[in-house]
Amino acid sequence: MDCCRHVNPFRVCAGLRGLGYLMVAFVAAIVAVSYYAVVVYAWGPMLLGDGAAAAGAAAVLAAFHILLAMILWCYFMVVFTDPGAVPANWRHDAEDSGDPVFSSSEEQGSAPRYCFRCQNGKPPRCHHCSVWRERAAPPHLCETEGNRCVLKMDHHCIWVVNCVGARNYKYFLLFLVYAFAETVLDTLVLLPNFIEFFQDESRRSSSPGDIAVLFIAFVLNLAFALSLLCFIGMHASLVTSNTTFIEIYERKKSVSWKYDLGWRRNLEQVFGTNKLLWFVPLYSMEDLHNIPTLQGLEFPTRSDAIV
Ligand SMILES: [Zn+2]
Ligand SMILES: [Zn+2]
Repeated sequence: MDCCRHVNPFRVCAGLRGLGYLMVAFVAAIVAVSYYAVVVYAWGPMLLGDGAAAAGAAAVLAAFHILLAMILWCYFMVVFTDPGAVPANWRHDAEDSGDPVFSSSEEQGSAPRYCFRCQNGKPPRCHHCSVWRERAAPPHLCETEGNRCVLKMDHHCIWVVNCVGARNYKYFLLFLVYAFAETVLDTLVLLPNFIEFFQDESRRSSSPGDIAVLFIAFVLNLAFALSLLCFIGMHASLVTSNTTFIEIYERKKSVSWKYDLGWRRNLEQVFGTNKLLWFVPLYSMEDLHNIPTLQGLEFPTRSDAIV
């Protein structure tokens, strides 16, 4: 992760911003190619075969469609959920709070922060998006929502055409996990066809179009499975230590990370306290009301933090 010290991810994202909604179209194209290869070409026709083969195909197709539904649900939740905006005329009111559990960075010695672009105070862990500030907001965010500070900002994700912050970080993580599961499934269930193509000449009678789609789907799913595994590994480390992508360097400099409440509480700060809802892109009303991290303005900190 040392490379993160030298690479500004937001400059990279800013460089990619011209791609805009082409990335959404690319995601749709990957889904369409995978759907054709797995459902239409490889496993759908097996439903008409004998008992065991048909049952196996039904299980594969059921898993494929369930994962696809979860991916699309999580994806649209990340894209269309406002990651969190700073309320108008927000000012840090640390002096009004007598609760040391909810102390913030300002109380620990750093000066109160102010955003001159938004003409507003900046809560802890909030950042002005370095992608939208250089261009108009996308149509699904109004102008005032796009060019602004984002609460508990993690990063700007070009794949979801949105910032990832306090309100949609869980949805982003679930999207990564379900997309990983789907790409692994696709790779495994397309592997027999892939091998068979080289071993069995009769399979080569398939149309060139089908063969091309099979190859593209297999290679894309394998590549995305490996890439997503790296992203999931990194975000698993971040979420269990209550660190945003922006805070990686800051955490490395600190002796004990002030937001690290222990992995169990750190997970609850992102996924909520209701474990039944950990696997779906939803929060209970209680969690939205009771977990300050989801509101994004103040954050519980450990009492023994050493900066
Ligand atoms: Zn701002
Ligand atoms: Zn952004």
